Amino acid sequence: MTGRAEKRMGRAEPFAVAAALLAASLAAAAAAAEDAAKPVAVGVNLVQDPGGAVLTFDLSRSVEVRAYTLASPERIVVDLPQTVFQIAPDAGRLDPARGERLVKAFRFGLLTPGKSRIVIDLSERACPVRVESKPIVEGAEASRLTTEIRPCDETAFKAAAMPGDVSGAAPVGASASPAQPVIVLDPGHGGNDGGARGVGGAMEKTLVLAFCVELKRQLQATGRYSVLMTREADQYVDLDSRVDFARDANAALFVSIHADSFNEGGAVSGSTIYTVADRASDAEAAWIAAHENAADRNPRNAKASGSEPGVADILFDLERRETRVYSHLFSRRLTESLRGATRLNHNPERSAGFVVLKAPEFPSVLVELGYLSNPRDVAQLESPDWRAKTAAAMAKAVDAFFFNPGAEAEDAPREPGLALDADRTPSAADR
Ligand SMILES: [Zn+2]
Repeated sequence: MTGRAEKRMGRAEPFAVAAALLAASLAAAAAAAEDAAKPVAVGVNLVQDPGGAVLTFDLSRSVEVRAYTLASPERIVVDLPQTVFQIAPDAGRLDPARGERLVKAFRFGLLTPGKSRIVIDLSERACPVRVESKPIVEGAEASRLTTEIRPCDETAFKAAAMPGDVSGAAPVGASASPAQPVIVLDPGHGGNDGGARGVGGAMEKTLVLAFCVELKRQLQATGRYSVLMTREADQYVDLDSRVDFARDANAALFVSIHADSFNEGGAVSGSTIYTVADRASDAEAAWIAAHENAADRNPRNAKASGSEPGVADILFDLERRETRVYSHLFSRRLTESLRGATRLNHNPERSAGFVVLKAPEFPSVLVELGYLSNPRDVAQLESPDWRAKTAAAMAKAVDAFFFNPGAEAEDAPREPGLALDADRTPSAADR
């Protein structure tokens, strides 16, 4: 420490700084130790015969497990504490040429912080008959997680259902329960930062807030979600605080809403759905991301990138990779759903390095509703009818994402290596 710095800090402060540094490194060490304590899955095996199937995972230690059935489409889920899967992500992608078997595919991955999930896709109705985690040899720490399933009838399938599975008979419009997925809507800009300005004096911050209010209303009307907004009024919120808000709310999905303007004139129009990527999909996406990120007058991103390397980084990468798959799945659904409701940009699905989409914990997308430089887009954004129709299309995509993953087109890519967010309903499974 230089004398000059010492002087500026005063006499007592060097101790405070040293103590803070020590506390920070202790916290990092504690976090690393906690990560190191997570079970690691190193091997997987599936044996099938006409009478049933046995799926085993070899783990570094025993875990508590629970298995349930989920309907529409029928599948089995196995919940376990957050596990590091050192297994090829496509291990559960089975060869269809091997004929119809009970298990079509299986997926595994992080469900929520602290929880992992294995999802078994079925070709016919089946129930879990044995789920256990036992030492591989007596006295050893390494354990084998075994899930045995057999064909069963509808009554048995229902009896083994996940508590709170809304794909079953749960009435739509039922009152909110803690098990509901939390959706965080993020109306862009606000306060001193009006965002883009458009023809006729249109302001991004005002139009996107109006849109989010309508979308929130429609999502809440389904009775299936808990919906929160990063701002409810015309106020400035920096980008990191928006992400932190979603994180604190335990978001299952984050949807940021913007409307940009393009200097190149009024020809560019339509809605665009963005996901995060290290490399922008195209020059315009990069430009838009740089533009939106510039809204952050209080960047704290340097802090995150300077964190500890090692186990924590590997876990972070795994989590981020999984989350990006979910974001893409949602982006695809959203694009398809919006196609029927409004005009899309000529290239509607893009990606770039948006700060607000960087959380590894939950899938997130950013929607540029339209271009304020285009008079037709502005007219739409200002129309309550258009807002209602477009919000309805978005709510439909959210429903499909969470509750009807089977509705996806047959040829649409699925990720058998990963547990789909669509199965993220339970939380009764915590017990
Ligand atoms: Zn914006």
